[in-house]
Amino acid sequence: MKKDEDFSEWYASVIEKAELRDKRYPIKGMDVWLPYGWAIMKRVDQAWREEFDATGHREVNFPLLIPETEFKKEADHVKGFESDVYWVTHGGLNPLDIRLVLRPTSETAMYPMFALWIRSHADLPLKVYQIVSTFRYETKMTRTFLRVREIHFFESHTAHATFEDAQQQIQEDLQIHERLMRRFCLPYIVSKRPDWDKFPGADYSLGADTLLPSGRTLQIATFHQYKDNFSKVYDVKYEDAEGARRYVHQTTDGMSERLVGAIVAVHGDEKGLVLPPEVAPIQVVIVPILEKGRQEEISRAALEVYHSLLPHLRVHLDDRDVRPGEKFYHWEAKGVPLRVELGPKDLAKGEVVIVQRRSGEKKSLGVLGLHSRLKSILELIQVDLFARAEKVMKDNITVITRLEDARDGINAIPWCGRESCGLTVTERTGMSVLGTPYYKEAASGKCAVCGEPAIELLYAAKAY
Ligand code: ZN
Repeated sequence: MKKDEDFSEWYASVIEKAELRDKRYPIKGMDVWLPYGWAIMKRVDQAWREEFDATGHREVNFPLLIPETEFKKEADHVKGFESDVYWVTHGGLNPLDIRLVLRPTSETAMYPMFALWIRSHADLPLKVYQIVSTFRYETKMTRTFLRVREIHFFESHTAHATFEDAQQQIQEDLQIHERLMRRFCLPYIVSKRPDWDKFPGADYSLGADTLLPSGRTLQIATFHQYKDNFSKVYDVKYEDAEGARRYVHQTTDGMSERLVGAIVAVHGDEKGLVLPPEVAPIQVVIVPILEKGRQEEISRAALEVYHSLLPHLRVHLDDRDVRPGEKFYHWEAKGVPLRVELGPKDLAKGEVVIVQRRSGEKKSLGVLGLHSRLKSILELIQVDLFARAEKVMKDNITVITRLEDARDGINAIPWCGRESCGLTVTERTGMSVLGTPYYKEAASGKCAVCGEPAIELLYAAKAY
């Protein structure tokens, strides 16, 4: 299946061949995580945990259900979500006095508790996160990882004494993401979402978008500055050094299983998945090439290589009784970065053959000190995957001065800053407006819509 001919079919077939999810579960948009898919998700979860733990966030776990009374307190937030939440209306046969919402996100679950937890300035900043399922009744066509109804979700929530402290937090979040996306080998742009498209209840929202081979962008992270919008509603206050009661300023940062979808889409090829070594549940697979009469000897040598690598790498020994060719195909579809082949000739020389998944490059290496050689190769693969993806993305950001020239990929359009012109971009190109570059780029010339002087660039793309 060719990736550039029919992306959607290719994408679905890669997921199926690699055995990541099973879509036959009888609820649309709720696929079953299969062991290998879940193993990748857990690697991503672990990267999230490491980065957020290291920056002073603490993991929590809130209930799935939110009372309607809390959910409905913040008007914009409710307006943004009420058409796509699931309701729990009964306990057994009895209608509930207060209906419950399956969390679509956790602001309205957490902030009433923040109001109890935060007393004084000494309690700030409060920085927590959780990794949980969230639920949204998606009416558009669902697609594994990219658009689903049960979402494997990461959300961090912070509370600060001042707006400036909250701004600082967003800077920290952006730095965390810089590191995370290197680990996932995903390049991205950061845009300040237009006011007409910010998160319901936010003062402003930033979005990180990557580009998929279909020419469409995928939002892979969001950052919201809430100011004191939610704290006023949920009465989250602290006592400052002078004894005055003040509202906290809040931020959130969200990511989801979409990252796995992005990894599949950005790096995969005709043979299937290509996983960045940092994310791969198996980094190295050992395939013994058994020859008649020497099976035992080769199996034993393969087991020795396996045990020598085990303390250093995520390694798997494929000793199933099937032909080597079939094993190669199997592990290529699963995107294992390196294959180690061990046959009778290699054994005689004290060597193994290393095959790189993405490039197909082969070379022989001595068994002695193998683990450190493999580690270096994996590091190079990691860097190479990011660089390749980054080049593709950069090559597909085009500055256009006329809306008729809008093309697949990311269009950077000179803009006068007026909402009406921004909305016209969407009307006339059918594309989503991602927002303005967060890391400012110079804009010159005229607004592509009205011809007035442009003050900034506006990113527009077809988006998932
Ligand atoms: Zn204009």
